Amino acid sequence: MNILITNDDGIYSPGIAALAKIALRFGTVRVVAPDVEQSSMGHAITHSRPLSIKSSPITFENINSHRVNGTPADCVALGLHLYPDTQVVLSGINMGPNLGNSMWHSGTLAAAKQAVLLGVRGIALSTPVGKTEPDFEALDAYVEQVLKTLLDEDELALFNVNFPPEPKGIKWTRQSVRLYDGHVVPGIDPMERKHFWITVSALEAAEEDTDRWAVENDYVSITPLRLDLTNEAELEKRKHDQ
Ligand code: MN
Repeated sequence: MNILITNDDGIYSPGIAALAKIALRFGTVRVVAPDVEQSSMGHAITHSRPLSIKSSPITFENINSHRVNGTPADCVALGLHLYPDTQVVLSGINMGPNLGNSMWHSGTLAAAKQAVLLGVRGIALSTPVGKTEPDFEALDAYVEQVLKTLLDEDELALFNVNFPPEPKGIKWTRQSVRLYDGHVVPGIDPMERKHFWITVSALEAAEEDTDRWAVENDYVSITPLRLDLTNEAELEKRKHDQ
């Protein structure tokens, strides 16, 4: 199996090194990732300037790897152009969860979405970060088990996977979309200029069987997604009213 790996934390993130190491057990691995962090860039693509791609052999032993001065979605577009025989795109392992609302901002998930838009299966993988870096060794067996399950299928599909620090099992979940408090916190910089931090904190508890609920309860969460955002119930109602 030919696997393309990218992320939004940048090519020097320990998360992408951990993912590449595990993915090697499933086939040929190539890495095309952003040269600097691109977290929360969503599905942005670069269309107003040319992109550059440079060989980046430092982090990955015996793996063909490149860094790109663009977004995660750019990396997937370029990666699939370079390696048209790619069968699946893996994005991650992100240092930080991509659950519920954050799917809308996530660069990690956007890379997997971009793969599906280009006709290749996409899987996004993330884990929360506490005061210390994630213990990727501890997650190794669970990442392998999830990849074994998801890589076994042939269909064009999109999955969002989140790993708690100490998993006790795996759950299939749906996306939790609950309101969050996206408030702005003002501050003063050392030059006494005003600046602002944007914060995101959940206002409501997660519903059972959702991605947030699973990770809060120490389960690996796998959410099957689709690109079609159409509100089917609303569409049916409007058509009926016509
Ligand atoms: Mn990130």
